[in-house]
Amino acid sequence: MECYYIRVPKNTGERTRKELIEIGAIDKRLKIKREDDCLLIPVLKLVEGYDTGIGDFEEVSIERSPAEILGFSPAYEQIGDIAIIDRHEPDARRVARVLLKQNRIKTVLQAETSVRGEYRTRSVSILAGEKRTETLYRENECRYLLDLSKVYFTPRLSTERMRIASRIRDGDTVVDMFAGVGPFSILIAKRFPGAHVYAIEKNPDAVRYLKENVKLNRVRNVEILEGDARDVVIGIKGADHVIMNLPHNSIEFLETAFGVLKNGGIIHLYAISHEDDLFDGILKRIEAAAGNSGLHIVALDKRVVRPYAPYQFNICIDFQVLSSQVI
Ligand code: SAM
Repeated sequence: MECYYIRVPKNTGERTRKELIEIGAIDKRLKIKREDDCLLIPVLKLVEGYDTGIGDFEEVSIERSPAEILGFSPAYEQIGDIAIIDRHEPDARRVARVLLKQNRIKTVLQAETSVRGEYRTRSVSILAGEKRTETLYRENECRYLLDLSKVYFTPRLSTERMRIASRIRDGDTVVDMFAGVGPFSILIAKRFPGAHVYAIEKNPDAVRYLKENVKLNRVRNVEILEGDARDVVIGIKGADHVIMNLPHNSIEFLETAFGVLKNGGIIHLYAISHEDDLFDGILKRIEAAAGNSGLHIVALDKRVVRPYAPYQFNICIDFQVLSSQVI
């Protein structure tokens, strides 16, 4: 677009830009250009005292959000360059077309089922864009390759994963009992090269990506154990931390977790609970399981991680496990 501009040396460019904003002279719809050692700042009116000219300027592209374009907020999640539209979204095809115009989205999927089964996966169909379900996702300075139709993954736990990592000390032994493609294990291993992380996973597809992601992030201190957590922990002893991120069933694996933990070690247990009883019911079940193993627990932290379903929440309880003899 043709318009007036002001030419200023680069080293005074920022000061001039601010002055022009203050007097309402700058044309914010157009991009500032560079020419040799000068900046050409597009203006709405001529301002005395400056070297001026007329030239062609590119327009600043302002990307409108999907909600602005559609007139409602569509329910979707973005993982890497793939968007997954909620299975209950009624106008999914229209939403897909709009999402595909967003900068970083190359493929739009629709979830056909909820996350289900032992491997916590969901069926998806491809609605628009490139025909693939694999993507590269970046989180907390780590990279994860994953196939959204074959493995569990949610970006909604990124803060939680960082919180757990902040509880670890270099040199700790950590058991990630339900590791998936590795977002807890790899983050911890990367931050603490002196730690040793056992990453346990039963889904063979997730294990394949876990191995890939260990290489991708160049971590050498993750030991991958493929199989049922109950079987593959044999031989692990003295762990400082056990992460139990299988929210619907973690409690059933407590005896296994107690077996690998050192006296005074910490368990981070995820569960799903109703808003009427977020923590007490689960804590009683943990205490009972500990009692059966001759142990007792001290709750360190209880938190709601995220809403899960109407009235239901994904929670995490961090607790220390002590031998009952040392009370
Ligand atoms: N921690 C990962 C994350 O944050 O993305 C994955 C969590 S996902 C909720 C639970 C994982 O546990 C799934 O990848 C599933 O395949 C795995 N799993 C389920 N049962 C298992 C078992 N008995 N032993 C080991 N892994 C299991």
